[in-house]
Amino acid sequence: MKAVQIVRPGELRVIDIEKPSITQQDNVLIRMTAAGICGSDLGIYHGTNAAATYPRIIGHEIVGVVEETGPDVTSVKPGDRVIVNQVVSCGHCYPCSIGRGNVCDQLKVRGVHIDGGYREYLAVPASDCYLLPDFLSDRDAVMIEPTTIAIQSCTRAELTKEDTLLLYGCGSLGSSIFRIARQICPNIIVAELSDEKLEAARAQGAAHTINTETENFLERVLEYTGGRGSTVSIDAACSKGSLMNLLKATGNAGRVMTMGFSTEPAEINQFLITSKELDVRGSRLQNRMFGTAIQMILDGKLDLTGAVSHTFPLTDAQRAFDFADTHDPSIRKIVLTFD
Ligand code: MN
Ligand code: ZN
Repeated sequence: MKAVQIVRPGELRVIDIEKPSITQQDNVLIRMTAAGICGSDLGIYHGTNAAATYPRIIGHEIVGVVEETGPDVTSVKPGDRVIVNQVVSCGHCYPCSIGRGNVCDQLKVRGVHIDGGYREYLAVPASDCYLLPDFLSDRDAVMIEPTTIAIQSCTRAELTKEDTLLLYGCGSLGSSIFRIARQICPNIIVAELSDEKLEAARAQGAAHTINTETENFLERVLEYTGGRGSTVSIDAACSKGSLMNLLKATGNAGRVMTMGFSTEPAEINQFLITSKELDVRGSRLQNRMFGTAIQMILDGKLDLTGAVSHTFPLTDAQRAFDFADTHDPSIRKIVLTFD
């Protein structure tokens, strides 16, 4: 069967490997039908993802059809369409013991630390498979994974209806967060450098928008919050100055969420955090949020159609990655297909 492997940074190969078989009683064999390309996949390709090891079959936005099940499996059956949990945790370390397996001490992320879903077949535990709603296409279902990341950050931020959320950056990560946050609180300020994205955020219900390139960011935040700053700020831009900007723009007793993976030092100061008693929290991956995301879709609260802008066959992965690297404005989500 075919698979896409990043041999080393900068080198992508379509390889032939043996089709997996079910070796564990609780495993299922999945025939892949769609796999998303994420910013972090591009990072592994370019060698800028500090977590990744090589060579690696990448892909963590994993959708397919159950082809075969092990003798102990009761939750899914052949023919079921599923999305696969990307987080593999040990179950007994300190984070796992307090229910936070997404930051397990032995964390393995499919497509990052262990082989992922850019391959025709994949064997995984049945407990990592989540049934897809019938009305959702396989390629749209890929968007459930970024949705779980968004739910995780809003959950870690303890976002409530009363909050004033400052969302910094509204690209692919930010717009997923926006969609979830909008379900929770009406008062959202979106800061971005693209007018087009700000326009889209307004159309989807952002209370205020700030162009970080042409407007005075801090002045605008204070203006839109009656002078006190946001109560919650989420960094979905993860750029060099973004954390410092958010520490300044967040009001007393607020929460500031980081989501970036940069290992570059960023300049901040303790006074901003101490004097306002801010909670600065990281949000990584997702902690059992697939069920939550799928329930939102079933309840009609979340519509994932239209987010996928381009598809490429698996064997054209090089072309897909080259295209992603052009940052063409028409790109929203690129999906690899397997037909
Ligand atoms: Mn992703
Ligand atoms: Zn663990």
